[in-house]
Amino acid sequence: MLSAAQAYAAPRRLRGILGESTSEALVMAVLSILEFPDPRLRTVAKPVSEVDDKLRQLADDLLETMYEASGIGLAATQVNIHRRILVMDVSETRDEPQVFINPEISVLDETLGGYDEGCLSVPGFYEEVQRPRRIRVRALGLDGETYEKELDGLAAVCLQHEIDHLDGKLFVDYISPLKRQRIRRKLEKAHRLRA
Ligand SMILES: [Zn+2]
Repeated sequence: MLSAAQAYAAPRRLRGILGESTSEALVMAVLSILEFPDPRLRTVAKPVSEVDDKLRQLADDLLETMYEASGIGLAATQVNIHRRILVMDVSETRDEPQVFINPEISVLDETLGGYDEGCLSVPGFYEEVQRPRRIRVRALGLDGETYEKELDGLAAVCLQHEIDHLDGKLFVDYISPLKRQRIRRKLEKAHRLRA
């Protein structure tokens, strides 16, 4: 997820903050991000069965890709890898990476709040989406252990947005068909010009 107000300059240094797997000489890669209306963004991701070095490498690559693009969240679906893992960093200092594997959320407060959401897969467009304000998430960490935490504010918005990606949903699904069609046409035109 990307928000104009949250698109901070991205630090390039990530090594060492993700645990032991990054202490070796590890090459991180910036992956290419699928853009709406690419049908691959509609794929429902499969649960991760094992947290191994390959998955930790993927987490590193997702973070590198997210920071490079000045995003605050990125789901594996967006780089055409259909497994249930996402990363985010909603800190202003851009040094608090979080990884969620097989995340499941429960809503703690049904009250909805609106936020102008953007998305690295829908570049340049922002629309208000209403979501529950407070959630609890249960997920696996990079050590393969289950953890739980409560989230509110931007972190809650971002996590719900990213989990939607794993389910093949995009924030534009919440807006009017007319607005969605307008965004689709503009992006399709941009893709044609780029090709
Ligand atoms: Zn997104």
